[in-house]
Amino acid sequence: MVLKNKYTGLIERYKHRLPVADDTPVISLGEGNTPLIQLRNIPDFIGKEVEIYVKFEGLNPTGSFKDRGMTMAVTKAVEEGSRAIICASTGNTSASAAAYAARAGISAFVLIPEGKIALGKLAQTMMYGALIMQIRGNFDDGMKLVKEIVDHAPVTIVNSINPFRIQGQKTAAFEIIDELACVPDYHCLPVGNAGNITAYWQGYREYASSTESLPAVVASRPVMCGYQAAGAAPFIAGKMIDNPETVATAIRIGHPQSWDYAWAAQKESGGWFKCFTDQQILDAQKLLAAQEGIFCEPASATSLAGALHDLSEGNIPEGSKIVCTLTGNGLKDPDTAIQQCTEKPITIDANLDAVKAAILDRL
Ligand SMILES: *Cc1c(COP(=O)(O)O)cnc(C)c1O
Repeated sequence: MVLKNKYTGLIERYKHRLPVADDTPVISLGEGNTPLIQLRNIPDFIGKEVEIYVKFEGLNPTGSFKDRGMTMAVTKAVEEGSRAIICASTGNTSASAAAYAARAGISAFVLIPEGKIALGKLAQTMMYGALIMQIRGNFDDGMKLVKEIVDHAPVTIVNSINPFRIQGQKTAAFEIIDELACVPDYHCLPVGNAGNITAYWQGYREYASSTESLPAVVASRPVMCGYQAAGAAPFIAGKMIDNPETVATAIRIGHPQSWDYAWAAQKESGGWFKCFTDQQILDAQKLLAAQEGIFCEPASATSLAGALHDLSEGNIPEGSKIVCTLTGNGLKDPDTAIQQCTEKPITIDANLDAVKAAILDRL
């Protein structure tokens, strides 16, 4: 039976800019086309005249931007006849790989650091039916093994060293330009393996140089701001680091695979790398949820922590148009969310008086 693809994902939308042919069997779950939400309350809260938009990638099918790359990587793997994919992951890549493999009817093998992935990501990957190998090591150890295993087993790597991942992920930059009808002044991103900053920069460059896209406005590019967690900040150290540590497990990476590309994005765009403590990251996550009703995972909030910092320091001037990518959904990591909320649920008797007292007490 030929399954007609009833969900239109990013491959359908940007086919002419992606390495696919008319007869490529597209493996899609309707990814991409995520909301670009303008923050209403935070600019007032920080007292700045500024347009901040968040690209909420947590609304992709498996809850992170990894789906953009995975639809392309799995589509191409299937086109090339592969029967199995493999990745090392801090959680989201494994969830995404497992979902797209299930969709394609092929096998997924994932290597994750034991005890260091958020609960939601583990649940997803288990449900989608991947073989999960928890390693006694970190992401970097897993990545090294994945690169070696391809010489010993017929599996396709779907980490962001797979060039099709970057191709799929670059479409987020296209969507932003299409929606704003211009290029933002600053683009803020959390940086782990640095595939995403690489992909956005490629997307912005491609759109800017295309003849068919928007008029002169597009002939500019944003300043790329890459933000890391202080305990996992090789781009700030200027060298690879061992034993990275951060509550933002999605960016707990010491040996980024897209090292050179990310430096190129920073240099060519006139941007910078900075890092923030776990507390600053969690504060930004909470602020975004409490002020705007947008719940992202800790790693994602690093982009907002950075933007707010650089606004307050004057590195990003007032009047700027800023986009922060929120890479993953807050529901991925319920443990960290619950732990950091000082206001716990209260327990009361199941009667009207108790409910009334609780409400009037707080108003
Ligand atoms: C993968 C991931 C990142 C880091 O992206 P890189 O491309 O590795 O730099 C950030 N946040 C979340 C939620 C992720 O899943």
